[in-house]
Amino acid sequence: MPQNQIFDLLLRNARLRGGQTLQDIAVRQGRIAAIGPALTDAAIVEAVVKEDAGGRLVLPGLVDTHIHLDKSCLLCRCRDAGGGLKGAIAAVSRLKRDFTIEDVYERGARTLERAITQGTMHMRTHVELDPLVGLRSFEAMKRLKRDYAFAIDLSICVFPQEGMTHDPAVERLLTQALAEGADLLGGCPYTDADPSLHMERIFALAVAHDVDLDFHLDFDLDPSWSHLEEICRRTKAAGWQGRVAVGHATKLAAIDDAALERMIALLADAGVGVTALPATDLYLNGRDANHRAPRGVAPVHRLAEGGVAVSVATNNVLNPFTPFGDGSLMRMGNLYANLMHLGPESFGDCLDMVSNGAARLMRIADYGIAVGGQADLIVLDADDEAEAFGGIAAPLMGFKRGRKSFVRPAATLLR
Ligand SMILES: [Zn+2]
Repeated sequence: MPQNQIFDLLLRNARLRGGQTLQDIAVRQGRIAAIGPALTDAAIVEAVVKEDAGGRLVLPGLVDTHIHLDKSCLLCRCRDAGGGLKGAIAAVSRLKRDFTIEDVYERGARTLERAITQGTMHMRTHVELDPLVGLRSFEAMKRLKRDYAFAIDLSICVFPQEGMTHDPAVERLLTQALAEGADLLGGCPYTDADPSLHMERIFALAVAHDVDLDFHLDFDLDPSWSHLEEICRRTKAAGWQGRVAVGHATKLAAIDDAALERMIALLADAGVGVTALPATDLYLNGRDANHRAPRGVAPVHRLAEGGVAVSVATNNVLNPFTPFGDGSLMRMGNLYANLMHLGPESFGDCLDMVSNGAARLMRIADYGIAVGGQADLIVLDADDEAEAFGGIAAPLMGFKRGRKSFVRPAATLLR
């Protein structure tokens, strides 16, 4: 390490995952420039900002690969939506025609701010486009992306929630959004009258615009049919390996061991990633089984063992799809581990599903705490990885590209 270095930020006494010795992290121009024990002792190090993590666990900013900011915080408008996926889609569809840019922005900002203060620094938001809502939700997302860039990298995935092939206006809207700043494209074949044509058109658009794909797929527990094999086949045919993800895929929770092994091999071979959305999948699936409801969540830890890129993400917050949520990815990973019977020996793998693994699925460059990496850092109120994960430790502060972007002081007892 050269002498007399001047940095923008020096975060001292950080406990990194898997490390015994506390480390200092030095940041320059948004990137991690040096990591080492007691950097200040080893050289004359100057930093504009100095912070002390005090031996607490420091993680890279968390990654939410799948959320719907445009329809978050709708509970007060549709308390009578009834249960189930169809009821939720219908309830939001009724409200959507009245969405304004300001309304979507305000609700999205509320959810985004909660996620930011829970440590999320990268997020892929799905946004519905159709003749009902036009490009209004998309416009709101572009403003959120700009206004919150100080704290989070927001990636906008436009998609036709209510089908596409029945109305050419839908594809025109998707094309326009892709020309006007959408980062990637989603699909939802299970709501389309012609799922195969839906997938064909979505792949064609992705190739034409050179964007990644993220589908809503296989969102039920009927093992007798699936769109996953067709997605894998089309991914390879398009040469889009590593650029396609699917969310839900809850049928993977309903198939037998041999079929699961086969699907894992197919997904790994096609380079298709899978996101489990436990809050929504638990809430909406298996309702006809009453008190014996199956969990209905894709076993993505099994997929990860087979080399598939996987993540656990938020999906919906406070709406008819999921009338719960605080934006915490730590809580979502914790929920996933709990429902999958995964103990402390697997907590690190589950933490990866909202950090390193999620970053791989989203193809985020230079993610992670390493020299040269993006200086996106959160300090958790915990000094042990297993306890942090098991106890859903809250972040005390975060640094986006090396700049302090939020604080969240720990609770104080007043005896
Ligand atoms: Zn979704």
